[in-house]
Amino acid sequence: MRMTQLHAPTLREAPKEAELVSHRLLLRAGFIRQLTAGVYDILPLGMRSVTRISNIIREELDRAGAQEVLLPAVQPAELWKESGRWDKYGPELLRFKDRKEAEYCLGPTHEEVIVDLVRRDVRSYRQLPVNLYQIQFKFRDEIRPRGGLMRGREFIMKDAYSFDASEEGAHASYRAMYQAYEAIFRRCGLDFRAVEADTGNIGGSLSHEFQVLATHGEDAIVSCDTCSYTANVEKAAIGQRGVTAPPITEGAPERVDTPNRRTVEEVTHFLGVTPDQLIKTLIVLVDGQPWAALVRGDRELNPLKIKDALQAGEVTLADDATVTRVTGAPVGFAGPVGLSIPVIADPEVALMVDAVCGANAADTHLRGVAAGRDFSPRQVADVHLAREGDACPRCEGRLRAFRGIEVGHVFYLGTRYSKPMGCTFLDRDGQDKPMVMGCYGIGVTRILAAAVEQHFDDRGIVWPMALAPFQLAIIPLGRPGDELASAADQLYRDAKAAGLDAVIDDRDERPGVKFADSDLMGFPLQVVLGKRGLAEGKVELKFRDGRATENVPLAEIVERLRALVAEALA
Ligand code: ATP
Ligand code: MG
Repeated sequence: MRMTQLHAPTLREAPKEAELVSHRLLLRAGFIRQLTAGVYDILPLGMRSVTRISNIIREELDRAGAQEVLLPAVQPAELWKESGRWDKYGPELLRFKDRKEAEYCLGPTHEEVIVDLVRRDVRSYRQLPVNLYQIQFKFRDEIRPRGGLMRGREFIMKDAYSFDASEEGAHASYRAMYQAYEAIFRRCGLDFRAVEADTGNIGGSLSHEFQVLATHGEDAIVSCDTCSYTANVEKAAIGQRGVTAPPITEGAPERVDTPNRRTVEEVTHFLGVTPDQLIKTLIVLVDGQPWAALVRGDRELNPLKIKDALQAGEVTLADDATVTRVTGAPVGFAGPVGLSIPVIADPEVALMVDAVCGANAADTHLRGVAAGRDFSPRQVADVHLAREGDACPRCEGRLRAFRGIEVGHVFYLGTRYSKPMGCTFLDRDGQDKPMVMGCYGIGVTRILAAAVEQHFDDRGIVWPMALAPFQLAIIPLGRPGDELASAADQLYRDAKAAGLDAVIDDRDERPGVKFADSDLMGFPLQVVLGKRGLAEGKVELKFRDGRATENVPLAEIVERLRALVAEALA
């Protein structure tokens, strides 16, 4: 590609609202433009990188036995009603009607559509397993689109769905996809971790997220410093070892006045105790039923863990009116003693013997509260949010906290969709059975943003070779038409003939401008042709990642470039 022809409109400054580095650099380097909130145009450089990512995905998924399809973005409501998600999905699902008043949505994901496809044409165990994938636009009306491609409303996703005749088969499909994902993200040049994850809106039982480690990642993940245990904090279990409850003493709690002291900070400060001596009592609705959830005052509640512990469909924090109704006190004074609703307590709380908690009366708390003596939880379960320093649930290690960007997600779905939607097959024994499914997503455009978050410096993007829109830039330091320009032109043609993806900066610009643009766009290799060097038959080979510059004989440069690219893609 010739720079004079390349449509890559660069910007000196990114718009102020672009907070993430990746958003700023992709705008400035001319990879993307915003059309409207969370919706982006992908320009030629961006498209080249998207194509590279897509091709890596295709190669690895095809290798794993999956087959590419392309499903419609517009989906009829009927299918979503069959799966039960039409009413459940919430406002992220963009719903609309056609001229006949029939209801549709723009696909945020494609379980319903793929199940409908497979149930029509797959009838026998002989046709299973089958694994179909597509690379396509998704639309989710995200409440807070953010960071450009990072969290768009319209974005490109690769989604795959596996159908098996048995649970063992489905587990094998899951493992094969897990391995394909590892290969994909490794080839993309990303530093990532596979983490145990919650199953969210999609449903199912087993799930891993692939998280790219990045300082500004949205997700919090914890990883053991000793074993391989890694999980999203939404899911992370916490080891409970070596802690035994001190014996319960005789006595009863004492009521104390705490006028207007509601928060952990206000109460502990006022009573001269530390947060870990306080029982934080949160009223939650578990499938609509009020429960009191207890965590230590220095902890945060993790409602997803309550959902798991109680096998519930939905857990939300109760509104103020409900809190007042079930505790008889204004918000801020709830406690487990004498409460009539069921209590779920974190194991740390179940060990507390001289604690402070709300008295279920305005402006009053209790001191000297002992779990087991003054209240008995209906259930004791790990319900607090994991954090740095917590005990690993698998070994003697400690958990470390990281930030991550979720670039991929694999789910074991079981029969969550095949059962309600009647996606069945005739098994060997002549019985009609629901297919066992898995689903597997990758955020294709998000990978672009995540890769930049991991690879940049103060001059611009530093693409890993595999994702770079061009592997190298050829930069003649003269004027169009001069001797340097024609040598550069020859080199450009030789590089292309050798299978390299090169861009030649044939613009009539000062060297500083050419270097700045090439650095901003992040091409991994630069070949600079200057007068003095050329007189000696040499060119300068520069590395975007900061490795030392080399002077290479012109006659050898193509071979050297080819070796460098091959090595980087290996
Ligand atoms: P998140 O928690 O980030 O909203 P999700 O759990 O909703 O993601 P999935 O439904 O698992 O995401 O979608 C599969 C993949 O699609 C994700 O791993 C992510 O890489 C990508 N993705 C999801 N939502 C967006 C978005 N709004 N913009 C860009 N990529 C997205
Ligand atoms: Mg989401």
